[in-house]
Amino acid sequence: MFDSLSGKLSDVFDGLSKRGKLSEADVTEAMREVRLAMLDADVALPVVRDFVNKVRERAVGHEVLDSISPGQAVAKIVNDALIDALGGSGAVPLNLSATPPVPILMVGLQGSGKTTTSGKIALRLGLRERKRILLASLDVQRPAAQLQLQQLAERTGVGSLPIVPGQRPVEIAKRALDVGRREGYDVVILDTAGRLSIDEELMQEVRDVRDATHPVETLLVVDAMTGQDAVNTAQRFNEAVGITGVVMSRMDGDARGGAALSMRAVTGAPIKLVGTGEKLEALEEFYPERVAGRILG
Ligand code: GDP
Repeated sequence: MFDSLSGKLSDVFDGLSKRGKLSEADVTEAMREVRLAMLDADVALPVVRDFVNKVRERAVGHEVLDSISPGQAVAKIVNDALIDALGGSGAVPLNLSATPPVPILMVGLQGSGKTTTSGKIALRLGLRERKRILLASLDVQRPAAQLQLQQLAERTGVGSLPIVPGQRPVEIAKRALDVGRREGYDVVILDTAGRLSIDEELMQEVRDVRDATHPVETLLVVDAMTGQDAVNTAQRFNEAVGITGVVMSRMDGDARGGAALSMRAVTGAPIKLVGTGEKLEALEEFYPERVAGRILG
């Protein structure tokens, strides 16, 4: 992840550092290279434009051009701008502030890693925060989906909603909250059905479940490897159902990183967590400053 972007940016800053004193033209040339590197990494065009303009504006200031090591000063400005693009400093934690059982709605396309991520979040909240978690699959499209989540719950050591054949997603969601309330669960994770593509039927189903359960978090799981498509998916889910956070799965892959850099600007929603492998432990908080540090090497 970010390898190519990282390599290109460090070439740009090495070039700047060697020059010693910088002119405005040097900065402009460097920003042209930064722009190309970001576009190559699949960062959305409006995000790149905004980024480069912001950095150029700050970098042509006299304090920077007249400083002892202007190359380093520009690198620092880029670092700060990367942190901004990634969502500002500090991880944004899951919001669990509601009367238990706190509903968390998981949405996303099929294959994005939604079910695995539901298990990962359950394990994390169960182990680290000692919460009692109930997992419920609302996927009535794939017959095996509910069973898959039940097995995941068993492996994770958390509760799962007993399967009642023939129920609709909204009925299952309401039943999950009832069981959650009756049996003293802290959090109910509702894993909605994924589809191969975004369609109105899927969105309506998610809206119906949302309206019936009032989730405090509606988390969209997107596959980092799908680059710009992940950002488009997020934009459409956000417009249709309103998301409160993004989980990017497959950050362990060799994705070019553009999706992570575009997500906040395009959707307004923070990346809250990232999936870094197939194992249930492979879930991490998203720290923009660490990611920016990795990009700049
Ligand atoms: P769903 O259809 O969205 O529920 O997707 P699944 O949860 O079934 O995941 C699809 C595949 O992606 C499975 O093989 C998962 O093991 C894998 N997967 C999920 N998250 C990650 C991740 O962060 N990294 C990697 N390498 N694989 C993942």
